[in-house]
Amino acid sequence: MSLAKRRGFVFPGSEIYGGLANSWDYGPLGAQLKLNIKNLWWKRFVENRDDIVGIDTALIMNPKVWEASGHVATFSDPLVECKKCHSRYRADTLPGFSVVKMTNPKTGGFGWELSSGPDARCPNCGAKGVDSFTEPKAFNMMLKTFIGPAEETANIAYFRPETAQGMFVDYKLVADSMRLTPPFGIAQMGKAFRNEITPGNFIFRTREFEQMEIEYFIPVPKTDEDWQAVFEQWRIAMHEWMHDIGLPANHIHELEVPKDELAHYSKRTIDFEYDFPFGRKELYGLAYRTDFDLTNHSKASGQKLVARDPQTNEEYIPHCIEPTWGVDRTFLAVLCAAYHEDEEKKRVWLSLPPRLAPYKAAIFPLLANKPELIEKAKGIYSALQKDFTVAWDDRGNIGKRYFSQDEIGTPYCITVDFQTLEDNTVTVRDRDSATQERMSVDKLAEFLREKVNG
Ligand code: ATP
Repeated sequence: MSLAKRRGFVFPGSEIYGGLANSWDYGPLGAQLKLNIKNLWWKRFVENRDDIVGIDTALIMNPKVWEASGHVATFSDPLVECKKCHSRYRADTLPGFSVVKMTNPKTGGFGWELSSGPDARCPNCGAKGVDSFTEPKAFNMMLKTFIGPAEETANIAYFRPETAQGMFVDYKLVADSMRLTPPFGIAQMGKAFRNEITPGNFIFRTREFEQMEIEYFIPVPKTDEDWQAVFEQWRIAMHEWMHDIGLPANHIHELEVPKDELAHYSKRTIDFEYDFPFGRKELYGLAYRTDFDLTNHSKASGQKLVARDPQTNEEYIPHCIEPTWGVDRTFLAVLCAAYHEDEEKKRVWLSLPPRLAPYKAAIFPLLANKPELIEKAKGIYSALQKDFTVAWDDRGNIGKRYFSQDEIGTPYCITVDFQTLEDNTVTVRDRDSATQERMSVDKLAEFLREKVNG
């Protein structure tokens, strides 16, 4: 966190006003790293695939969307309050306590029952056991706002808690305009908002975050194997993605979500968990949402959100497999996986995959007071800048400049020295091995392209 702040990756939000709890800003290098993650995802899952198209839908949708999707009724976490100190907690994350979801006999809606081990206490004041807490209450996590000048119930709107509903609501428009029949996917990346009861762990859980989601529509499965095969393809695709962004396989774990804990729309969900420094936590999810969403939106809107079987010409409501990625959690996992400290050499470096690194290379003139070196180095810098994000540094000695670039994960440092003026070669120093090689200036762009795309 300290490096992230010092080097311009992530800043505390609104810091000059004392901050706003759990809000974060991405600084210059963080914004670039985040963009690189999103661009890689978009390229891989939208541009490079024939069967997936991308959209970008409104953050605030007609509130009827959230009624039909089930979010108004059930997108809730169990909230409990300590009767003694009035601290509020999400009951399912309270250490020593557990909650069981059940139907409330009075209302017919769902509720939770809290239980605890012998020594479970309020983390704030130490009050002991279940009796020290109020009964779990459903706390809806959608962030509300009002549209127009009057703050009346009729004007209530919600910031979307997931990007997914944009894909369902626009399903027919996308299918018709792009002439698609299942199997095909609709992808979207963008902000989502949740009024989390207990945000925290840096950018892991915030109230405002970004998602990258795909709704992959398939014909009505005739057997379980039909949807399971697609589910399996996505499971593998998600592992390949995690591998390619540099997450070590031994830090990744699949959690098969038990039947009684599945979200209201899901028939099967796998959570991909990651070993963060603060524990094993959910990174991504993969869910079989059946035809839940399109069926509900068809009913609620009166529109036919259907596809036509090319063989029988019959209409059907497609089923849907949903892989979902959190952008901020990806950013955090990538940063944690890349962070290295070398005690002996007192070196800190980020071993970011070159394709994700904010700068692909840094250009150094050996000496800042030799105009001929500066001029040559500036020429190389400007030429490379057309195709790559590159950094310029002419301050201090070369060792310090290496150190500075290592800390922000720049994979290559290119030094222009007196030999460059004679034979048009430079030294290229590799971040991870700290080794140097001499290379012709003419080869630099090709070298970087290969490393960045490879
Ligand atoms: P959790 O159990 O951690 O609350 P979730 O199961 O509610 O997460 P989903 O609804 O499956 O999460 O959302 C899809 C993805 O969006 C998650 O896998 C995660 O990467 C990301 N995400 C969800 N909530 C947040 C949040 N509050 N802050 C940052 N990212 C989030």
